[in-house]
Amino acid sequence: MLSQVVELIEKKDRFAITSHVRPDGDSLGSSLGLFWLLKALNKDVEVIMRDGAPHAYQQLPGADSIRVTPAVDKPYDAVFVIECSDIDRPGLIDLENQFVVNIDHHSTTELFGTINWIDSTASAVGEMIYNLCKATGVRVTKEIAECVYTALLTDTGSFHYSNTTERTFKIASELVRIGVKPAKTAEAIFASYQWPKIELLGQVLGTAKRDETGHVAWMWQTIDMQQQTKACEEDADGFVNYPLAVGEVEAAALFKETSPGIYRTSLRSKGDVNVAKIAEKFGGGGHRNAAGCTLKGSSDEIENQVVPLLQDAVKRANGSKDTTEDALK
Ligand code: 5GP
Ligand code: MN
Repeated sequence: MLSQVVELIEKKDRFAITSHVRPDGDSLGSSLGLFWLLKALNKDVEVIMRDGAPHAYQQLPGADSIRVTPAVDKPYDAVFVIECSDIDRPGLIDLENQFVVNIDHHSTTELFGTINWIDSTASAVGEMIYNLCKATGVRVTKEIAECVYTALLTDTGSFHYSNTTERTFKIASELVRIGVKPAKTAEAIFASYQWPKIELLGQVLGTAKRDETGHVAWMWQTIDMQQQTKACEEDADGFVNYPLAVGEVEAAALFKETSPGIYRTSLRSKGDVNVAKIAEKFGGGGHRNAAGCTLKGSSDEIENQVVPLLQDAVKRANGSKDTTEDALK
């Protein structure tokens, strides 16, 4: 709960903040927003992560101070775990031995912390960090504003997704008043690609397929494509959204080979089509319209497993009577 978090911050001094492996806009923006909040209160704080900030987020205030480490190698009074569904998501050894504060906006998150502050109405954890500023009386500085804005912008898909609310815009408006430049932030995140990403996109789009209904689409990215184009792993971020730009496509998957036979899978959907349930079935998670998991097997096996589940999710959302089998049971 928020009051427990405020009390802890008031009473203790040495904090670490971490988030999930391969951090994204919300995990970085929220972690760094909290970092600046705690600094404003003169706390001893550092952000520790298993993976560093991707290229698109290196301009975030404080990104250069993130300590990349495989383990929690120091004692802290508390470790804030941002935007993680379970204690393993940060990928940090010895995290479970710390006093953990779980801060998340996924309704499905496990209550793995000693303190758990979960707000599934928040469009991004960034919104919660903004609320924490208000609750602790910390002035929202330009640094905090830029971090929180980045969290809101990315987790709402540039204010496109259904998690975007009046409150999101109210907070965003306040952040712009404080000094965030929306065009500058958007350019840094969405228009700072390096050329290999374009070449990789071309190859990945070349694999796009759809089912006979036209409602489900999927694509592949192989290790070979990544090596050939000299792209880096994070370059595929956002590719999964392209098929969804087609009107009738309601669910899309990108299967990204990270080592032979292992595929990081991104799932996206529109409206009531729930892909989080599919990701959870494979040990992953996320939100109804954006989720991810890791799959093992041949491409045929994966396609045969996942495509029917996506088709079923579309049928359920459309309330179709011809859902004959409960594929998620
Ligand atoms: P992406 O497809 O961009 O990697 O992830 C989309 C959403 O799904 C994000 O909200 C992310 O936190 C969640 N997600 C992705 N992969 C995993 C996973 O392996 N486990 C869990 N619990 N959530 C994931
Ligand atoms: Mn998020």
